[in-house]
Amino acid sequence: MASIVYSNGRYLPRHQAQTSVFDRAHLFADGIYEVIWVANRALVDWQDHHTRLLSSLAAVSLSIPWSPAVLRTLIFEVIRKNNLNNGFVYLQINRKHSYTRDHRITTTEKGGRPALMISAHHAPPPQCQPLKVITLPDERWRHCDIKSTALIKAVLSKQQAQQQGAHEAWFFDKDTQAITEGASCNAWMVTHNGTLCTHPADNRILHGVARQTLLKLCQRHKLPVQEQAFTLDALRNAREVFLTSTTLFVSPVSHIDDVAVGNGKVGETTQRLFDAYLHHCYPSSSSPDSHA
Ligand code: PLP
Repeated sequence: MASIVYSNGRYLPRHQAQTSVFDRAHLFADGIYEVIWVANRALVDWQDHHTRLLSSLAAVSLSIPWSPAVLRTLIFEVIRKNNLNNGFVYLQINRKHSYTRDHRITTTEKGGRPALMISAHHAPPPQCQPLKVITLPDERWRHCDIKSTALIKAVLSKQQAQQQGAHEAWFFDKDTQAITEGASCNAWMVTHNGTLCTHPADNRILHGVARQTLLKLCQRHKLPVQEQAFTLDALRNAREVFLTSTTLFVSPVSHIDDVAVGNGKVGETTQRLFDAYLHHCYPSSSSPDSHA
């Protein structure tokens, strides 16, 4: 992580940025966040991230005093102060804290200024490298479309994935066996007739900004897409499998629960979409190495 953090009106060295022990994000995970990719100092898909931020805040009745222009200015100041060329910015908004531990949102918390934190994280753009995925039953709540800091299920699932030598955990509905999404990504597969499938953008998944961008790129490249849930069985028989997220772009999946997808190599469609997504982030250049 880079060294300067914006925290409630001040730019501070990261070890000096602090919040109250009564912060509601600390007590109740009562906070909303965003992760935005920075490509050559520019924000990728800022408008879509801002729209989702507002939608998540509205879903938890958290109103903010910052206009889109002010938020953008604060983010760019964090980018500038940290000399962040490539990587991502993390933005979190917590409901104002109070000195009583009360689940209910009091009038002062409703009216009070929420806490805002913005940090910068240096990272080169991801490579088109195959990742392993495990599958787990989806035991999360039914409002996954809210980008909330209540991420304990994601934490435990990613931990389990790591212990099993995988990078990600993908969730499936216990009743229908439908794949919803990953712990921190959206799930995609390519059928044997070349159709791309991904779960519809409803309350069972986070409406990924990378997912949304890729849908547009598929349209531009005239690739057929079905926003329709697919089962664990269909996933195991897919021609290609990949994931999307702000930090992993379009990443191929080589193994599902230790079983190879296709021949275990990066598929043609996945490679094409990775290239298109990379170009979307870095329109003036095509080589990822030049950005590292
Ligand atoms: N689904 C979940 C549960 C996530 O946590 C994330 C990203 O963190 C995504 C999907 C991908 O969203 P985005 O493309 O906006 O990064």
